[in-house]
Amino acid sequence: MTSSYIGRFAPSPTGALHAGSLVAALASWLDARAHGGAWLVRIEDVDTPRCVPGADRLILQQLAACGLVSDGPVLWQSQRGPAYQQALDTLIARQHAYPCACSRKDIAAAQTNAHKARHGELVYPGTCRPENGGLRGHAARAWRFFIPSAQAPVHWHDRRLGAQQQDVAHDVGDFVLQRADGLWAYQLAVVVDDAAQGVTHVVRGADLADNTPRQMLLQRALGLPTPTYLHTPLVLAADGHKLSKQTGAAALDLSEPLAALNRAAQVLDLPSATGGVAEALATWTTQWASVWALA
Ligand code: GLU
Repeated sequence: MTSSYIGRFAPSPTGALHAGSLVAALASWLDARAHGGAWLVRIEDVDTPRCVPGADRLILQQLAACGLVSDGPVLWQSQRGPAYQQALDTLIARQHAYPCACSRKDIAAAQTNAHKARHGELVYPGTCRPENGGLRGHAARAWRFFIPSAQAPVHWHDRRLGAQQQDVAHDVGDFVLQRADGLWAYQLAVVVDDAAQGVTHVVRGADLADNTPRQMLLQRALGLPTPTYLHTPLVLAADGHKLSKQTGAAALDLSEPLAALNRAAQVLDLPSATGGVAEALATWTTQWASVWALA
């Protein structure tokens, strides 16, 4: 079967894979296989201070033990600086990016009721926007995405969550593209790379769902296509919080890969499988379309 489907799994090498990240890996792989498409692995190591040396290799080994192997060369975002710079230059030329001199402290001090911090993140109050006088003689620290004041809320469809919308200007504000320390922001890197790799379908954890509207605005500003999105259920820790490397989720025990895969499959409403890893993956691939409609 030929297909133009290209999917991907894009882990940040801030630690080993855990039970939560395996769900996203498995779901993205099964969706690609059920569509007769390709599945790529991309190592998202742009936030270098948070990366753990060797975690990228470990993640690739863990995936391989689970039968999940990239269909094309693995891409490391740390090698992609020139592509991100080119995208930033394009945004600057289109007046969709501007330099910002604000520190976190400045932004926190400028928060008003109209710019309430949401989810602990500060909404940028627009201090350095061109119409507010730009840098006003201060040194540029970061580059931000310019959201026109007339920008309508972004409406989008998630294959699991259904109709979604977000008013990015109000809820997030002009977000960072390049940080004060020179590092590229996740939003820019992910959009540039999804397009460069021809990704047509994004399948990832639900914790990333509210990043989608920012990524769609960037895609539109750069003239890039928007993939379809499916955000998978999260694995919760015993205390009800999201399982994450930051909260110390245990690395997957891969002495028994099928047991780890079965736990991930259960989160995805797939029946438990016996036999070998390859057999289980083949069975779930045939079941995928009836549990998760193909789109
Ligand atoms: N690198 C991100 C993470 O590990 C995932 C990015 C994505 O799938 O868009 O949380």
